[in-house]
Amino acid sequence: MPQPFPIISQQKQPQAWAITPDSHALAELAKGIWDCAVQTNQRPLVVLSTAGPLIGLRAALEQNRPKHLPSHIAFLPQVISFADWLEAAPSAWKFPKKQTDLERWLSVFVNLRKHKVLQSWFKAESESGAWGLAQAVIDACDSLSEVVVPQLQSELNDLLQTHTLDTEAWLKKVELVLDQAIAKAYIGLSRNVVDEESAVLLTFWRYLTSIGDPVIRKHLAMASHMQLVKANAEKDRDTVRPFLWVQTADPKPIEQELIDSYLCDYAQFASVVRVDLDWQSVALWPEALCGLDVEGHIAVANTQEESQIDSNIQANRQDDWRLLAARRFEELAWAATKSVESYLIAGKKNIALVAQDRLAARRARALLSRLGNSLRIRDETGWKLSTTRAAAALDSWLEVVRAPKEGPSASALLEFLQNPYFDLSHSLNQSSEVGVGLIAQLEDILIASQAKSGWETFTMAIERANSYAATNGGSPNAHLITLIQFVRKLHAGWLPPTVDCSSAYALLQKNLQETGMAQRLEKDAAGKQLLEVLNSFDLSGGIYQDVKMRLPEWLSLLKTVIEEAAYAEAGKEAQATLSILPLSSTRLRQFDAVVLVGCDEQQLPAFSEPPLFFSDTLNRYLKSSTIAAQYIQQARDLSQLLVSCNNVDLLWQSKSKSGEPLRPSAWIQRLQTKLKDWRVIDAKPETVQGQSQPIQMSVSIPDQDLAIPVTVSPSAYKALRDCPYRYYVTSLLGLRKAKEFEEGFDASLAGQTLHALLKTFFQALKTEEEKSHSPIHQGYEARRQWMIDHLMKCSEKEFERLIAGDARVMGTLRDWQKQIPSLIDWQIKREDAGWRYHDAELPIGFTLSLTDPDGVQREIRIAGRADRFDIQESDSTAAAVIDYKNQKMKKIADRAENILDDPQLLIYARAANENPIAAHLPGRSVEQAEWITLKAELDKGEDKNIRAHAVEDMPNAMAQFSEQIVKDLNGLWARKPMQAFAPDSVCQYCEARGVCRKGMW
Ligand code: SF4
Repeated sequence: MPQPFPIISQQKQPQAWAITPDSHALAELAKGIWDCAVQTNQRPLVVLSTAGPLIGLRAALEQNRPKHLPSHIAFLPQVISFADWLEAAPSAWKFPKKQTDLERWLSVFVNLRKHKVLQSWFKAESESGAWGLAQAVIDACDSLSEVVVPQLQSELNDLLQTHTLDTEAWLKKVELVLDQAIAKAYIGLSRNVVDEESAVLLTFWRYLTSIGDPVIRKHLAMASHMQLVKANAEKDRDTVRPFLWVQTADPKPIEQELIDSYLCDYAQFASVVRVDLDWQSVALWPEALCGLDVEGHIAVANTQEESQIDSNIQANRQDDWRLLAARRFEELAWAATKSVESYLIAGKKNIALVAQDRLAARRARALLSRLGNSLRIRDETGWKLSTTRAAAALDSWLEVVRAPKEGPSASALLEFLQNPYFDLSHSLNQSSEVGVGLIAQLEDILIASQAKSGWETFTMAIERANSYAATNGGSPNAHLITLIQFVRKLHAGWLPPTVDCSSAYALLQKNLQETGMAQRLEKDAAGKQLLEVLNSFDLSGGIYQDVKMRLPEWLSLLKTVIEEAAYAEAGKEAQATLSILPLSSTRLRQFDAVVLVGCDEQQLPAFSEPPLFFSDTLNRYLKSSTIAAQYIQQARDLSQLLVSCNNVDLLWQSKSKSGEPLRPSAWIQRLQTKLKDWRVIDAKPETVQGQSQPIQMSVSIPDQDLAIPVTVSPSAYKALRDCPYRYYVTSLLGLRKAKEFEEGFDASLAGQTLHALLKTFFQALKTEEEKSHSPIHQGYEARRQWMIDHLMKCSEKEFERLIAGDARVMGTLRDWQKQIPSLIDWQIKREDAGWRYHDAELPIGFTLSLTDPDGVQREIRIAGRADRFDIQESDSTAAAVIDYKNQKMKKIADRAENILDDPQLLIYARAANENPIAAHLPGRSVEQAEWITLKAELDKGEDKNIRAHAVEDMPNAMAQFSEQIVKDLNGLWARKPMQAFAPDSVCQYCEARGVCRKGMW
């Protein structure tokens, strides 16, 4: 039976009233408030302890407005949440400036520097861990202040009464009073604190507490409200409005004391009604009915209370409470989605998804987004700003900022350049056409050259690519270098190891302006919110503006603040609304249907992270929240939810990740023992049957309109031989995978560097040989030594820039230098056999003429770049072609086995023989071809015997190759079916695998 609203008495004491927290609670409350208005003939002020039911209560007041009210009370009574009421305190302008979270964290940081005793605590923490710990310290300090500050209430009241116009002087007085109170309380508290951790915390509290803390402001606001009430009462007692306090959730004991004392004071001047929730007919478990005992433990129910619970369960049982168990996570998310869908189909417009299991709720949300704009999803669980694209974009810039002076990794650089907020044309101050394809081109170059990190490395890779383009008919792109220089210049601004807060903020803003990111973020909902969060770092004019810290500390602080910020989605009109919210937010709110996901024994009840510093006993002493209080609150919230809504689905995952069975929450199990017919439904995904055709090996016939390249490089021809389908995908369709950077040093740029330095060395050797007094003519040993020294020096020089870009390259240089003596030995042996270095890095090719099936004559150019040509001194017609391989002999031997599938050397030999002038070999023909390893396994003695591997039976191999290439190219131009066919060793690294779907057939 609902309690009637009390008859307002003149007792000067708060009166108590309680409402039943069921589906009629808000209507009952609204009627009570109107009753109060009518009885007192005044418009009451209603303050709710939590903001959740505000909108619902206003609507209920409108619906329950009594007829024929006198005009001065006909307005809706003022309903406000406690937090808003505090903010609206009179003379709030006088209050000390509110400290932001950031300022409070910085105060921890500053105190840490000042007081050695505190430092030991943070020593072991990483930067981000330290900021997390700072947050915990602040929370704990607030708990301590909550206990101490009420003792100051009368001083604060007095201070507010002094009508000094000098706010500064007033603030100083407040500060003094606070300091005195802290000093006094510190002695008392330290007697109760035994362990070292809490002792350190107390020290923190002593140093950190300031008049800008939220706890102090709260007390000042309450004192200020009270002062106004007194002033009004003195003028005209009848102008003081009746005050209704609605306690929507169980308060912490300290909060209870605070509000009780305020209500008592207020009752001296006007009517006060304290509204509580009456669990008598709503509680479904004894703990929800009985609450805590005086000691703060869960009270034990007597038999009468037990039987009350039994009757509550039977009276409130709804047929539409469903228990759904899903076996796996994905099935759970599907089941939750299906539940929501079924309610939408049934015409429900206002549905709640209670995210006891946040992951499953997130997944369900993603699945529900298929419903598009007809369903509005409001996530009240706090969607983090850090999960938005805008935050990821900023993060990509911070990754570049934190890079060492040599430069960022290529992946970090590309990630930043490819973020959608980066404005390339704005950054380069060029027209937007200039930017088209520029970043893709940069990515290609960095990947192809495996330039993994460092500004110098990137620049070198671009210069090489540009010079290659210039000599091979391509067009070098100067904007690539400009782009690297632009980012490098911005990065250079962050090189000093320490920053001060305000200049770091200014620099970051400048970066965002220069890269055009600020302008683009401004146009995006999440971006705008991100910029607002960044603005909180503007500490100019404040006491923390000059605080200095290491750059990683500042970056980590920035990240922590963004991590804490929530993203507010813009609302939109829709046919139905789904609110994703925690259980506590369902209090006194109305929903057409509720889906509660995560009702297993591990997640319901769910307790907030225990405070880092206080034990449960100390919490009790500090009159703060305890585990028992949280447990009871959740039992009450769940009772209220079940009793208030007819359609409730309770879902859980019945098997844990490790495969162990998971039972439903004990609360559900206890209800089941009383409700025998309440059975669990197995939530199984619907299975749809169908016949599928097994996939066959992929084959494609090139379309008539598909252009076939008229130049073929040795590697493209190898691809065609390895697997025609792969050639089709990569060369004809031009598809390519977004490549990841491989771990380890940039092999390719190093490979290019080795080729380049070997050419430089051999050219230098040629020049040296022409000098008659050179030491190289002074016998075998002197020649050997000169060659080794010179190649060593040459290598140091060529690698110099690479090392400047990435110091790890030093290891590669040293490995290579170990190879040099044995390579020189091989070279000398080769010279003894009459072979002399002739030329290197020579572009070379030959042309094939064929007639395609349409009778059109086609000229196909087979061309590449030969590593080196040697000539024979004893035979003026003989020459040899050499290919350097930066791989072990074993691989080279495998290559030789399949020379017809990888005929690079045969291509160069044929090209040189067909056009000796172009190959700078007039009068000679290539009859020898060899691979030389630059990575001999020295410890296995490879250097002595097997650094080289020659192509066997050259004339025969050449003849077979010539026949084969004509056949292959004829087949290609005839657009014959191109089949996916390759051994697993080839498929393993094939980037077309996702297209040919090898493994599925
Ligand atoms: S995965 Fe193998 S079969 Fe498929 S395209 Fe690549 S190489 Fe050919």
